Amino acid sequence: TDFGYERVALAQKQGRVDAVFHSVARRYDVMNDLMSAGLHRAWKAQLVSMLRPSRSRPHRHLDVAGGTGDVAFRVLDAGGARTDVTVLDINESMLRVGAERAPERFKGRIDFVTGNAESLPLPDATFDAYTIAFGIRNVPRIDLALAEARRVLKPGGRFLCLEFSQVDLPVLDRIYDAYSFHVIPRIGARVAGDAESYRYLVESIRKFPTRGAFAGLIEQAGFRHVTDRPLSGGIVAIHSGWKV
Ligand code: SAM
Repeated sequence: TDFGYERVALAQKQGRVDAVFHSVARRYDVMNDLMSAGLHRAWKAQLVSMLRPSRSRPHRHLDVAGGTGDVAFRVLDAGGARTDVTVLDINESMLRVGAERAPERFKGRIDFVTGNAESLPLPDATFDAYTIAFGIRNVPRIDLALAEARRVLKPGGRFLCLEFSQVDLPVLDRIYDAYSFHVIPRIGARVAGDAESYRYLVESIRKFPTRGAFAGLIEQAGFRHVTDRPLSGGIVAIHSGWKV
């Protein structure tokens, strides 16, 4: 049946994504710096600044598709002693790198959980905020991931998503296209020994919904006051929503 076919296709997509991140886990952080020319740091800083975790009140944070812990470390630095973060990822290789490089000062305030964004192994109404950075476009069923985000947030909780978007400045869009189709697979081949994985990543960026369409999906999942903010000419965007 068509349904059977779709299920196989979705499982294949996840299998492919898992293979990519197993193969790049050790070099993931250095690749990020190289391929975004360090820009991913500014984008993540922006994400965390929108979050403004309280330094006095407890802040329970969930970072999904958290990989090697980049966003989690920033949230812990921005928050106070009463901030703690759960890093969830489907890929143990990525989490292992994260756990190894987690600074000593975060001990007891960070934990690493293996799980799927589509069915979080976490109780309802637990977290003050949920972030997902460069993760949701890898998840086969975005609607399920959004529903799960809403479920685990407390009422009043915040959803924030940093993801690649559409460049809509003339000239910059042409440069960006050339860069992603020619330069990124080459860096992937040189540094991670894996051009194919990076070709796949570029493709997945093209297939991801536009800012407006993605905002619509977040609303459909039941979030309120949904906004989207393009950064760096639309190379990436931050979508925000609230569970009320
Ligand atoms: N958030 C990190 C960052 O910004 O540096 C890592 C982003 S990395 C591009 C994408 C991550 O999504 C990978 O670690 C991958 O294992 C994870 N991932 C892919 N599919 C997932 C799923 N269904 N559930 C949870 N994590 C997933």
